[in-house]
Amino acid sequence: MKKIAIYPGSFDPVTNGHIDIIKRGLRLFDKVIVAILLNSSKNHLFSLDERLDMLKISLKDMPNVQIDSFEGLLVDYAVQQNAHAILRGMRVLSDFDYEFQMALMNRKLNNKIQTVFLMAGLKWIFTSSSIIKEAARFDGDIDNMVPDIVGEKLKKKFNLKLSGN
Ligand code: ADP
Repeated sequence: MKKIAIYPGSFDPVTNGHIDIIKRGLRLFDKVIVAILLNSSKNHLFSLDERLDMLKISLKDMPNVQIDSFEGLLVDYAVQQNAHAILRGMRVLSDFDYEFQMALMNRKLNNKIQTVFLMAGLKWIFTSSSIIKEAARFDGDIDNMVPDIVGEKLKKKFNLKLSGN
């Protein structure tokens, strides 16, 4: 049986920290479904289509990765996709509380689905979509923290001059 994991998140936008988790997840699973959760109460900078496009372009050379979005309960979506695992990345201590609560809740909702945590890559331990957005808003150099397409989209969003133009 194929081992499938769902990697859920907002991906607003996808960062190199996320990509590191996906690459390492692929060493454990036959397929990783990167899925944007639609019913989150967060305000997003990028629309769903923009976030999906950035994921598709950034992950285009990675085999066994599928990009999708879903609404409703994550465990129900996992069952629908024949996945037995939820993949999450864990950064410094601040992630722990929330991730622990989510993992316990998901296990209560469906104890056949396991949550698997991968420690963030050392290089990406302080990288988050929100911090990158803040830096990009004021033209901070975020080039080596995000895929090229994300760097370009952020600059466009904040009306900054694209390098090379
Ligand atoms: P959410 O809105 O669910 O927090 P995110 O898109 O921000 O969604 O993150 C999705 C998952 O990726 C979460 O498990 C988060 O902890 C993890 N993650 C985010 N940034 C990094 C990073 N730099 N390194 C490792 N994991 C990360």
